[in-house]
Amino acid sequence: MAEKMEFQTEVKQLLQLMIHSLYSHKEIFLRELISNSSDALDKIRFESLTNSAIACDPDKLKIRINPDKESGTIVITDNGIGMNHDELIANLGTIARSGSKAFLESLSGDQKADSNLIGQFGVGFYSVFMVATKVEVLTRRAGSEQAFRWISEGEGSFEIEEASRAETGTDIIITLNDESKNYAEIWELKSLIKKYSNFIAFPVELKKAPEWKDGKEVEGPVEFEIVNNNKPIWTRSTSEVTEDEYAEFFSGACGGFGKPLKTIHTKAEGTLEYSSIMYLPESISPFESNNIERKHGVKLYVRKVFISDEVKELIPGFFRFVKGVVDTDDLPLNVSREILQDNPMIKKIGKALTGKIFAEIKKMAEKEPEEFAKFWKQTGTIIKEGLHSEYEHRDNLLEIVRFNSTVGGDENYLTSFKEYVGRMREGQKHIYYINAENYATASKSPHLELFRANGIEVLYLTDPIDEFVVPQLYKVEDKELKSITAEDLDLGDLISRDEKAEKKEEKRLGKFLEGVKEVLESKLENVRLTYRLKESPACLVSGAGSMTAQMEQMMRAMGQPVPESKQILELNASHPIVNNLNDLYGKDPKNDQVQEWITLLYEQALIAEGRQVPDQTAYLNRVNKMFEAATKNA
Ligand code: ADP
Repeated sequence: MAEKMEFQTEVKQLLQLMIHSLYSHKEIFLRELISNSSDALDKIRFESLTNSAIACDPDKLKIRINPDKESGTIVITDNGIGMNHDELIANLGTIARSGSKAFLESLSGDQKADSNLIGQFGVGFYSVFMVATKVEVLTRRAGSEQAFRWISEGEGSFEIEEASRAETGTDIIITLNDESKNYAEIWELKSLIKKYSNFIAFPVELKKAPEWKDGKEVEGPVEFEIVNNNKPIWTRSTSEVTEDEYAEFFSGACGGFGKPLKTIHTKAEGTLEYSSIMYLPESISPFESNNIERKHGVKLYVRKVFISDEVKELIPGFFRFVKGVVDTDDLPLNVSREILQDNPMIKKIGKALTGKIFAEIKKMAEKEPEEFAKFWKQTGTIIKEGLHSEYEHRDNLLEIVRFNSTVGGDENYLTSFKEYVGRMREGQKHIYYINAENYATASKSPHLELFRANGIEVLYLTDPIDEFVVPQLYKVEDKELKSITAEDLDLGDLISRDEKAEKKEEKRLGKFLEGVKEVLESKLENVRLTYRLKESPACLVSGAGSMTAQMEQMMRAMGQPVPESKQILELNASHPIVNNLNDLYGKDPKNDQVQEWITLLYEQALIAEGRQVPDQTAYLNRVNKMFEAATKNA
């Protein structure tokens, strides 16, 4: 008796998407099914090493693809691990993969129509419904006598029944829909296997095209031939592998997106023996940057047998965009996953691989700054995560992190800490930075006026993660890091200050400052004169422990309560607006107009910080009143 079951809601959603909006990439179904078969073959080989109840002859493992033009079907067969009843339901009825869930969640509004996304995420088995009206899965789990048949038309439900299958493994029997009959053509399948699955580590056999004689197909037994190049590419010498092959391996077996930017092919001999190919990608998908599990993309092989792609110690999470493989003879084949966790050999290999990645990135930064800038734009946020948690890599990370700064003049200019320090003014003790939402806000901040006027460089911290990691660094290149918006900014001998004159100004404007305090009392911690400003009338500085505008925004976005942090308003004593207001205030401290303008001064300082004006309508009314007066007098 067949059991009928409903797909999980997310699967239904995914199927809807597959069938209705992702048409242009439907050929990838083959890549997905072959890669599932390859995983199943990896699994049986691995299980047979650690579980004596499971037998497998590694030389016989293979994938076979058998199309039939007449019936419009394709059968994909593997002698891999297979699935039992419960696995069938869990694997082909729900979405377990966090990747696919993230994929679904990431699709919103217009994006639904963007079929490119499918290539970025690899949505697995269900993609077969882009080309099929019906799919049957006949499978028998290794170690079991029972087989099961799973059938679905992709419309919301599937059926499972007991069946029989002579051997362990799985057949996927696809009945093609009318628009996809071309996939039953041998030449078409051959080109797809070459394109997407050439470097699968097992033989992929395809039905041989029949011979033709006198304009007719010659009748004969069905034969199969291996169409992929299954010699592990990493075992070949670097001079032997072509660019195209590297690129193919990247996007095929390594699941990379787009093209590789840099390929790191290593064959280490001596105390540590391993071969590895790792790629820095040209572009990374949003899924990889948001991947909270920080799962990396380097697969571990032992003597060409796939062991695991979840060995954390191999590659740090901040390099999770690196794709590739590492193969070593230095571990026993029957190594268990638990043992891998704390294995000193894995740690050593991991250290070596991580070192190679750092070296490649540093080389690029030095020799190809433009390439590097593009790379940094994509990966900088992820790499900087390492500064937060990975003390071991701190020095290497500090060498590669980059920021915009007051030097350079545009967003494309990036500086390292080292370069910054090399340009520091004589006697400068600190590395100065400003936090801002983006380059435009940072570069226009009134806080920079003093620094620009005195030729002191300031780094722009415009990435949300900078807020967390940079203050934690404390010292870099033996120089303390300082925010230029801190209330206690002290530039020491870097600038010359006339304290006598400052005192005089304080006296001159003392009453007015009291008046400003009164008007803005509920909003501010204090009001005072400043030496920081040259062109602007006012700015806000943060008291100790107060948050930057970006941090506040981020907390709000995360739904966190934002503790009220009052700031200090600083006024420029030599600015005409401040002086005019001082005169008006002197004549009549109760003047409503003056009170309005004081509020406006504060609101403008907020805007310059990239903060929100609390009451936008009131703000516009104030500006419009002035506007009206100015146009009348013009
Ligand atoms: P993914 O392969 O990314 O996990 P899929 O949707 O492609 O996602 O497949 C879901 C699961 O179904 C796989 O993880 C695997 O456990 C199982 N599966 C799919 N194809 C096969 C197969 N040919 N042999 C054994 N198990 C399979």
